[in-house]
Amino acid sequence: MTVAELIETLQKNTVLTKDEYIALIENAQEADRNLLFEKARTVREQYYQKDVYIRGLIEFTNYCKNNCYYCGIRCQNHAVERYRLLPDEILACVEEGYELGFRTFVLQGGEDLQYSVKDIGRLICEIKKRHSDCAVTLSVGEREHNVYQYWFDCGADRYLLRHETATKEHYEKLHPDDLSFEHRINCLYDLKEIGYQVGAGFMVGSPYQTTEYLANDILFLKKLQPHMIGIGPFIPQKDSPFANMPGGTLEQTLLLLGILRLSFPKVLLPATTALGTIHPQGREQGILAGANVVMPNLSPVGVREKYQLYDNKICTGDESAQCRQCLENRMQSIGYHIVVSRGDYPGIK
Ligand code: SAH
Repeated sequence: MTVAELIETLQKNTVLTKDEYIALIENAQEADRNLLFEKARTVREQYYQKDVYIRGLIEFTNYCKNNCYYCGIRCQNHAVERYRLLPDEILACVEEGYELGFRTFVLQGGEDLQYSVKDIGRLICEIKKRHSDCAVTLSVGEREHNVYQYWFDCGADRYLLRHETATKEHYEKLHPDDLSFEHRINCLYDLKEIGYQVGAGFMVGSPYQTTEYLANDILFLKKLQPHMIGIGPFIPQKDSPFANMPGGTLEQTLLLLGILRLSFPKVLLPATTALGTIHPQGREQGILAGANVVMPNLSPVGVREKYQLYDNKICTGDESAQCRQCLENRMQSIGYHIVVSRGDYPGIK
């Protein structure tokens, strides 16, 4: 099959074989890419028209007990200044976000056990009590089933936990021995079973990644059937063991976004901050490749610099209102618009 035929087949069947995904990723030329993005937009607009959902990201702690080699807030990075927002500071970010039209709040952080299970539960309850029309998303890493269940019972709606890579040998090159591939994957199945809307995902161009591994990622996602898929380029962080590794590219990330849109027509697909970091129009191009979500930062400006998963992260100096306006303008410049909505997966609430 030619690459154009692979794209046609993917649009029709929403899945390819492993070898076909590999062939598509490795051989797509300029004209194929344009065909892919055009189809991805058609499929995206079938479910979402020109709407773009926003998620307010609150990076509430950069303490972390883990030492993922790619990450700037891993525990052995002593160059990072640590911070932890108080519950009232987090709630202030939520209030500001609500006024700005956000209806989803993502509480993200390192795996910081200082924040107890109950502390986080109380925060979820308080946000839901104040704003019953909003969704609360958690992104605080791997926990046990009972903890995920407790937070769900407190009112959490969604959970983001990128699987990072679906290939065990690759996982073990990106993480120290005390982190287990099986545990991370099990967490995702636990979250789904409990009833969360689940987001998985991976970095594009992470160290040691091969095209075969990318195909494994897509086929793993096909099995998991997450509601959201977060992908962004790997960006080296200067104080990490991967400081001198090459980063993921705009081209490769856009290609994967297009392939994911055709493979998962209804999925929530963010154009990530990492994509906006490697190219000034990265997020716009991401939307034009099939993405339908953006996740601007609502964290207090004073801490944004410290939540450095990777170098040169954008928007660290802007107030939340500025970020919101800036994104509105960016989306309008390409004919799309931000909507005030929880932005649930179609058919779920
Ligand atoms: N502690 C949470 C949140 C992790 S940060 C968890 O474990 O899920 C969110 C995501 O940022 C990670 O899942 C990872 O895919 C991404 N990330 C971390 N370091 C990065 C880097 N150097 N470049 C690009 N993305 C990175």
